[in-house]
Amino acid sequence: MWESISEITFAVIGISFIGGLVFFARYSEKKKWNKGVCPDCGSTLVLNGWMIDSQGGRGWTCPKSGCDYTAWVSYNIDKKAVQGN
Ligand SMILES: [Zn+2]
Repeated sequence: MWESISEITFAVIGISFIGGLVFFARYSEKKKWNKGVCPDCGSTLVLNGWMIDSQGGRGWTCPKSGCDYTAWVSYNIDKKAVQGN
């Protein structure tokens, strides 16, 4: 399967890179979602039923008028909050 050391090295770098991207995407979503609290005004974010895309991504918005903070979540970081609704 592996022809040479350079192919193994390439594969390892590739897998690490993808893993890093996933980790970073999850981390930035987690930061944006902020445990379901709007970082701008402190209100509890609301999950809008119509803001669920075909990929399963969920749009959480701030209910306070004038504050249109929105956090898109596609990883399972909001599982507890979704079940609580
Ligand atoms: Zn807000």
